[in-house]
Amino acid sequence: MNTRTPKATPEILIRPEIRALSAYRVPHAQGLIKLDAMENPYTWPPDLVEAWLARLREVHLNRYPDPQATSLKKRLREAMAIPPDAGLILGNGSDELIQLVILAVAAPGRVVLAPEPSFVMYRMIAAFAGMDYVGVPLRAADFGLDLDAMLAAIECHRPAVVFIAYPNNPTGNRFAEPDIRQVIVSAPGLVVIDEAYFAFASHSFLDSLADDDNLLIMRTVSKMGLAGLRLGLLMGAAPWLVEFEKLRLPYNINVLSQVSAEFALAHRRVLDEQTWRICQDRAALFAGLNALPGITAFPSEANFILFRTPPGEAGRLFAALLKAGILIKDLSRAGGLLSDCLRVTVGTPEENQAFLVALADIL
Ligand code: PMP
Repeated sequence: MNTRTPKATPEILIRPEIRALSAYRVPHAQGLIKLDAMENPYTWPPDLVEAWLARLREVHLNRYPDPQATSLKKRLREAMAIPPDAGLILGNGSDELIQLVILAVAAPGRVVLAPEPSFVMYRMIAAFAGMDYVGVPLRAADFGLDLDAMLAAIECHRPAVVFIAYPNNPTGNRFAEPDIRQVIVSAPGLVVIDEAYFAFASHSFLDSLADDDNLLIMRTVSKMGLAGLRLGLLMGAAPWLVEFEKLRLPYNINVLSQVSAEFALAHRRVLDEQTWRICQDRAALFAGLNALPGITAFPSEANFILFRTPPGEAGRLFAALLKAGILIKDLSRAGGLLSDCLRVTVGTPEENQAFLVALADIL
């Protein structure tokens, strides 16, 4: 008679660092004014939607997509003026590219380093891959990079990868350019400049790719108005990208995303106008927030604004806004530099106004 082998439980088999994590939580937003996730609030004009649907009708869903996304890559190179000798690899969102870079270098005892607070996936994916994570606190006064602390941590931990979000999420600022250059020259491993919010910022490191073989630039089309497509870009020197390419799952960019992104980039003017409008509205939202008693908004070069509430009030204000039908992001529970902080995405002028009125009402 066959005896059944005793089976491991998740407690036994799942690595302790994975069990210690919480899954990335996305709150329900149905029926709410959604200002929590840095999405572009605008849809396309009806004639553009019709042209897009006509293009989709030609797609053969029975076939695998182009594994190299050749045509889309060509369009992205033109649209983003990617230096011709830079390598380019696409991800199912830039999240996937963070994972790919970390997987490629992961080994016990190796370190991923980033300023803190920053995008949470750097820390989470380091944990997925069994790597150590070192967060270097930003300056408390202005969320600037603490260059001395960064250089000391780099010297001490010799990180395999340094991630720098530029502009930074969730603080919205762009770190000083010379400080980042100093990090690039001092880091022994890879430096990834994550330009997820490049469309709203006044400077990019894309043209610096040629200066350093260990520099990688990451972007996404999510914040440009195409979050639903899940498409990220990683650019850098070919010898690195050849290695990353080995880890990329075949067909990671599905055929609908390839065709839709190409179509959208061919009509880039619509997206650019929306981005321009968001930047204008960001200025009004910033002024509106700072005019409220007890609120301090921090300057942003992204499509969101971080603001500090009166001490101990952030949780209450977040909940009261939700009750009023407005979803933003409560960062106060992270504590530290984000104590009393909330983050609001720039929406349409009407949404921004509704948010400001509701906040003034409940303060
Ligand atoms: N990097 C940063 C700094 C982000 O804020 C985000 C999204 N919040 C991402 C990367 C991921 O973008 P996506 O996966 O949508 O491309």
